[in-house]
Amino acid sequence: MKLIIASNNKHKIYEIKKILGGKFDEILSLREAGIDHETVEDGTTFMENAIKKATEIAEISGCYSLADDSGISANALGGAPGIYSARFSGGTDEDNNNLLLEKLRDKEDKSAYYTCAMALCSPTGELTLAEGYMHGTITENRRGERGFGYDPLFVPTGETRTVAEMTDEEKNAISHRANALALLLEKLG
Ligand code: IMP
Repeated sequence: MKLIIASNNKHKIYEIKKILGGKFDEILSLREAGIDHETVEDGTTFMENAIKKATEIAEISGCYSLADDSGISANALGGAPGIYSARFSGGTDEDNNNLLLEKLRDKEDKSAYYTCAMALCSPTGELTLAEGYMHGTITENRRGERGFGYDPLFVPTGETRTVAEMTDEEKNAISHRANALALLLEKLG
């Protein structure tokens, strides 16, 4: 069984391969599978976007396809940036971080959570879905060099370090993506 991950994000692919490695004969990124396709992410929820991406790639490739849609939600901002996490500022990850810091500067509630919606689509269009979370708080300043996206700002509950100060292994043990994948694995039996 061949699985195509509907992403070219190397951090996501690394996490997914590590957890689902035993379930499929071969796991390929979009690029490795030679697929050049950009799904229009116009869903109103993480799960809608994940389903759309997985379904399109399964149709194009005739293989199993796994897609995730993820992002960060700040409680004081009514869940923003949420599904708009990647395009929050219209700039780089660092611009996104700075915008989130700015919007939370005068807010007392710094609590936030990452969501990851995972959709696995079979070659015949059968879906298996799972959602995972990681709760925590947003720091006052960016800290750490690892991870990606909002990781330099996010301190998981029970931690003092940001995710960008943790090793890949430490992040993979608690991340929203790992939690969603564990649930997905359970559903696959
Ligand atoms: P997606 O690629 O459409 O799922 O967009 C996800 C966006 O949410 C990324 O570009 C990041 O800004 C943010 N994000 C999702 N997961 C993570 C994570 O594990 N660490 C840091 N940022 C994340």
